[in-house]
Amino acid sequence: MPHSDTIAVHAGEPSLDDADAPITPDITVGSAHGYRDLAAVDAAMAAHRGYGRWGTENHRQLEAAVASLEANGLSVRLDAVAVGSGMAAIAVALMSELSSGDHVVVANDCYGTTMTFVRDDLSRFGITATVVDVQDLNAVQAAVNDRTRVLLCEICTNPMIRVPDVEALAAIAHGAGSLLLVDNTVPTPMLCQPMRWGADAVVYSATKNLSGHADVIGGAIVGKPAWIEAARAFSHTFGPTLGPFDAWLTLRGIRTLAVRMTRHTQNALALARYLEGHAAVKRVCYPQLETSPFSDRARRLLPCGAGALLSFELAGGKLALDAMVAKLATVRLMPSLGHVATTLSHPASTSHRGLTAEERAAVGISDGLMRCSVGLEHPDDLVADFQQALRSS
Ligand code: PLP
Repeated sequence: MPHSDTIAVHAGEPSLDDADAPITPDITVGSAHGYRDLAAVDAAMAAHRGYGRWGTENHRQLEAAVASLEANGLSVRLDAVAVGSGMAAIAVALMSELSSGDHVVVANDCYGTTMTFVRDDLSRFGITATVVDVQDLNAVQAAVNDRTRVLLCEICTNPMIRVPDVEALAAIAHGAGSLLLVDNTVPTPMLCQPMRWGADAVVYSATKNLSGHADVIGGAIVGKPAWIEAARAFSHTFGPTLGPFDAWLTLRGIRTLAVRMTRHTQNALALARYLEGHAAVKRVCYPQLETSPFSDRARRLLPCGAGALLSFELAGGKLALDAMVAKLATVRLMPSLGHVATTLSHPASTSHRGLTAEERAAVGISDGLMRCSVGLEHPDDLVADFQQALRSS
């Protein structure tokens, strides 16, 4: 069985027997194919081929790569569907599964727009939701009922980097006849395969580390083939298609995912340790820190590391954060994550601004919390930049 590193390099490429294939895939930009007879059109339409909203060869190559990474080492065949953003992945995964009258249980520490989608949009379609702290398994057990179809959570939650007990959540979901859907955007399949721990399907914002260079908005859904077929059919109707160039860029990003995630993780741990020891820092959230309440679980679910994301608060609060940002020489504020460069984001005013102050407080997102997406710089340079920026703040 090949390692995930090798799968990432080769998955979706043309067969070695295809003697004249380009070594990197061509990009199919045509929005439709042309035909000379009705039978050919009929065959293409029946197979959902030949029209750009249904995807191109670039989508199929990307989908093959994501599905193979997710399935590596598991005795299960998986399929994937690529879509136009991480939110499209979450919306398609939920809406292809749910009908009016159904119920979902959603972790209260998901990405802000996931929370507002569940709170403000799903309810308009007659789908009820219970938002729950998934660290409290009794609360999760109490939240599921016989209408519950999906339990949704994140691993390495954005921005508190909490790690849920996926196995226990899967047991509760399955006991209630529900699916467990996991947003695995932050670890990527390189650091965690949620299906290994009982999840039924996985969603990604490919905008982040999967593509990895802050030049794509994309998403993907991975699951068993029959389930993905339903999600793909809904996506083809609903229409959140990923552009072929974005599919190409995402696959190119995946080629280096293994080395990037290794370095992101090493750098994040180095910066987390530095910040944790700094007198101006009030707290650091990173599951690989020995002081983290999630360190044992992270060792089990994320044995190769917890990825690029950490969060911290300064003793001087939001004012001190602003002073630090102004002094940083190489690190900028950016309302995203997963870039090759280290970037910062202020969740209360960006990713989680759609939540009420009470909803943010319930998961620990204070106005003084800063999220850091740690990049691929030399760790000494990165730490040195924070050192000088924190000198008198
Ligand atoms: N899931 C997580 C964990 C995210 O952090 C984000 C965006 O930040 C999304 C989903 C949504 O992704 P996109 O912005 O690609 O729609």
